[in-house]
Amino acid sequence: MLLDNHDRKINYVRLAVTDRCNLRCFYCMPEEGISYVKREELLSYEEMHRLITVLASEGVNKVRITGGEPFLRKGMFEFIDSINQIDGINDLHITTNGTLTKGKVHRFKEIGIKSVNLSLDTLNKERFFQITRRDEYDTVMDTLHELLECGIKTKINCVVMQGQNIDDIIPMVAMTETHPISVRFIEEMPFNGSGDHPATLHWTSHQTIQHIKDTYPSIEKVPDPPHSTSMNYHIPGHQGTVGFIAAYSRLFCGSCNRIRVTPQGLLKTCLYDSGVFSIKELLRHGASDEELKGAIQSAISHRAKDGFEAERNRGINNTVSESMATIGG
Ligand code: SAM
Ligand code: SF4
Repeated sequence: MLLDNHDRKINYVRLAVTDRCNLRCFYCMPEEGISYVKREELLSYEEMHRLITVLASEGVNKVRITGGEPFLRKGMFEFIDSINQIDGINDLHITTNGTLTKGKVHRFKEIGIKSVNLSLDTLNKERFFQITRRDEYDTVMDTLHELLECGIKTKINCVVMQGQNIDDIIPMVAMTETHPISVRFIEEMPFNGSGDHPATLHWTSHQTIQHIKDTYPSIEKVPDPPHSTSMNYHIPGHQGTVGFIAAYSRLFCGSCNRIRVTPQGLLKTCLYDSGVFSIKELLRHGASDEELKGAIQSAISHRAKDGFEAERNRGINNTVSESMATIGG
């Protein structure tokens, strides 16, 4: 079992399978000048499979496949299916921008995907283009409709940005009336791949809740599942729910049960740390499973208490600015 130095059990890994993306969401990636990790520097499918097998033997049962855009990597369906076959893995999820899955969503259940987080920051086609710098709104909406038709549990990830999509909040919430989806409003974080975006929070989860209360005063708090990063609410009569993820305010760190593996095989024990060691180096230098377990155990026993401590530990010359696509959002 993986227990950290704050007595938190780690049973969840977020695996970023690529840093590449076909969108350029401005809060995540610069429009140009991105240098992707060289292909040979990415963890191979075999390496990721071995790593998840080792983690599963240590009590990890939940995996989220993320990126970059996971479906840009060839053979992703087969890879996910192979992860689903690992003993002990029984809670498999994916985060996607939904641009590459049109017509393929019916396969998700077959390969063991239990739920999908679909990124969608606006219900306005032009604004979608402004935010993502690509004209893929219709495709993403097609994916959303397929997810609903196939009865796949779906959460919408909506990053809330002052001056961009505040007037999308209410239409997004309105979707929960007729659809059994969870719409989650996420605070923007400074992980945008460029140091020129100030690391300040312009619109908090608290402001989003207040904004929604003006239109839906009957909105009520519902219990949050264990280890939930979102504070969850429901509007009476609506089929779906609304969640708030205070990702910048970091209100959820206390019960954190997750680790991350970046596309180039760095272990992160907190979203805000800069990577604690290279799993890839160990794997490529012939480490045994026991050595791998030992290194992971040791990293977890030196884990920052929360995202603020992890950020402080980076030092003043190593401020948060890497792209979320290289971390696995
Ligand atoms: N490409 C996939 C997608 O967009 O769903 C998966 C990777 S993306 C990095 C995962 C999530 O991180 C998305 O929901 C995205 O909105 C979120 N994200 C990216 N950059 C962010 C930022 N600077 N602040 C908050 N959330 C961010
Ligand atoms: Fe790509 Fe996802 Fe980042 Fe948007 S949020 S640029 S879709 S990785």
